[in-house]
Amino acid sequence: MIVTHSSSSALATLGEFGLISRITSGVVAHEGVITGIGDDAAVTVSPSGMHLLTSTDMLLEDVHFRRSWHDPYRLGRKSLAVSISDIAAMGGVPRRALLSLAIPSDLPLDFIDEIMRGFLAMASEHQVALIGGDTCASRSGLVISVTIMGEQHPDKIVRRSGAQPDDDIWVTGTLGDAALGLKLVERGFDSTQPPCSQPSGSAKQDSRSQSGSRSLSGVEGADALISRLLDPVPRVSVALALTEAGLPTAMIDISDGVLADYGHIAEQSGVGGSIIIDDLPLSSAFRSCPAHFPVLPHQMALSGGEDYELCFTAHRSNRQKIVDCVKKCGVAVTRIGIVSSCAGVVAVNQDGTPFSIRNEGFNHFT
Ligand SMILES: [Mg+2]
Repeated sequence: MIVTHSSSSALATLGEFGLISRITSGVVAHEGVITGIGDDAAVTVSPSGMHLLTSTDMLLEDVHFRRSWHDPYRLGRKSLAVSISDIAAMGGVPRRALLSLAIPSDLPLDFIDEIMRGFLAMASEHQVALIGGDTCASRSGLVISVTIMGEQHPDKIVRRSGAQPDDDIWVTGTLGDAALGLKLVERGFDSTQPPCSQPSGSAKQDSRSQSGSRSLSGVEGADALISRLLDPVPRVSVALALTEAGLPTAMIDISDGVLADYGHIAEQSGVGGSIIIDDLPLSSAFRSCPAHFPVLPHQMALSGGEDYELCFTAHRSNRQKIVDCVKKCGVAVTRIGIVSSCAGVVAVNQDGTPFSIRNEGFNHFT
């Protein structure tokens, strides 16, 4: 329930039930949802024989996002996208979501409206039904919590634990873009949508034009990099295509950098692996940016978080099948390494010599 701090806020005027009504006004009916929002619990049915996949994520203001960077529409989209990505990483079909919001009493109602517009747009793109959630007041920033449920036949679910020695290590898309996008917004580059509030700090102020319009001159592809951070695309179609074809032996989504996330596959599978630095897929926008910022591109591509690409392993006899399988999805896949029987994940140059790295996931806000 909403317990407001300030009787003068728009939220207090609206009240708990008014807010719930406002939040859920855009929710549409979905197959399999017998009773949705409005009762004590949702009632749903799943096709016989399917297993249920469940995952939950929290997004905390000033930990996972900042209102000065993240426009509410894309914040709403991202809050569901990162959960959908977890279902995709198991080879599952995302079906239903629960959304809980802890809301500061001074948050403008149109900010909440935009979060919901973004959330429901992402839900619509992936046929995910919003079937419930909770609202309460927050005394220390906005909190968005999403629980997602997906389905898959038990024989098709892809876990982290199935990698075998000599399998190839693959990734979808390009790596490091979101981490570089974060570097850009940290340095005061505006996001591609008007921010809902102005960032503080002289560096941020200096980078803006007098009119407040975005200031991306001299950084080719900055829009694309920032968009990778603020509006990630869960790789559902690729994951399902690969899964239906039975090709991945293990899979994970890349939220903490490929080195750390492949490390989870290696640990769960009882194997190791080598990742070839020169084979990491880098976008043209990413390649053009290091000239402007003192960053180590390969370190960022290995350890940069929040790309939400997929990392998967597959038997080497399936290379052509994998390429053919993902063609229709419009997303590139790249082989970046080999699973080894000995423990430990190493990054190597093309000639096999070790690449000096810090083996840790990218931590956005420390
Ligand atoms: Mg994950």
